Amino acid sequence: MPDTPTSPGPRAEPTPVEGLVLRSTGSWYDVRVGDETVQARVRGKFRLEDRDVTNPVAVGDRVTMRMEDDGTGLITDLLPRHSKLSRRAAGRRAGREHVLVANVDAAWCVQATKLPSFNPGFVDRFLVMAEAYGIPAGIVINKADLVVREDHAEDVAYWQGLYESLGYPVLLVSAETGEGIEGFRERLRGKTSVVAGPSGVGKSTLLNAVEPALGLRTGEVSEKTRKGRHTTTFAELLPVAGGYVADTPGIREFGIWDMEPEELSAYFVEMRAYLGECHFQPCTHDHEPGCAVKAAVEDDEIAPERYLSYLNILESLREGDVGR
Ligand code: GDP
Ligand code: ZN
Repeated sequence: MPDTPTSPGPRAEPTPVEGLVLRSTGSWYDVRVGDETVQARVRGKFRLEDRDVTNPVAVGDRVTMRMEDDGTGLITDLLPRHSKLSRRAAGRRAGREHVLVANVDAAWCVQATKLPSFNPGFVDRFLVMAEAYGIPAGIVINKADLVVREDHAEDVAYWQGLYESLGYPVLLVSAETGEGIEGFRERLRGKTSVVAGPSGVGKSTLLNAVEPALGLRTGEVSEKTRKGRHTTTFAELLPVAGGYVADTPGIREFGIWDMEPEELSAYFVEMRAYLGECHFQPCTHDHEPGCAVKAAVEDDEIAPERYLSYLNILESLREGDVGR
């Protein structure tokens, strides 16, 4: 304790505490402070500071709080974010940015070997999102136990090899048998990670395998929708492996919504080397003559599946229906 005299009486300002926002339910926030979770509100003027954002404080934010006499907190300040994921707000606040999660360290796309089968379109959309937000990404292929035939094993190895060659880690795991789970747990350790995948790939079973205390509901899709969890606009940070996993709505919720079609190729890592070589600048690499990206696809230097994903996402950007 410093030996400076503290002035008693009502004027003394309490020391602000620092915390991590785990959950948001409209006007209240669950904020982790040390080993405790404090219910907190946001100071009024805070809300009005950024009119283009619907939520001034997001899950994953580090905040400073003043503790009130009733044990609740008053969030007074937001610490700088090193990353975020957001989407376009719907309804009354349409068009504005809604921050889903702040300070994301890593993003994992969950797929299955089958039931449902590996979906490169989903993966590529996810990877573009991660690249656009500057978040390191990887792929988890679950249900390794369902690979019994050799041709199926070759397919899975093809996808694994393709994405690894692009620099993305690919983990082959089974939530059912436990294969690869320890490796995934180590990747999540101490970080804030986003884990997303299409319904049915076994995301909940996988997270339960990594962290049994979670007790996430698994199985029937209809049961989960009934619970309403996936219709909420608020994400939640779940404690996993000494870090947190953001339980977020589906991939369509993530906004690559403010991207211009001309920007897209910069988020396909293997296209970057060719971008300056196209005859037309900017080039969208679909119809322009003298396109270096198309030439690279023809020369097998860019995988045809990746180019197809590129064209599909380009189309949705032109139609303006990405991330809504
Ligand atoms: P989510 O919609 O991605 O959260 O998927 P769930 O975790 O609810 O799992 C969907 C179904 O896949 C359930 O019937 C699970 O039992 C099954 N499942 C999950 N992981 C595995 C796995 O590694 N192997 C097999 N064979 N089935 C799995
Ligand atoms: Zn081009």
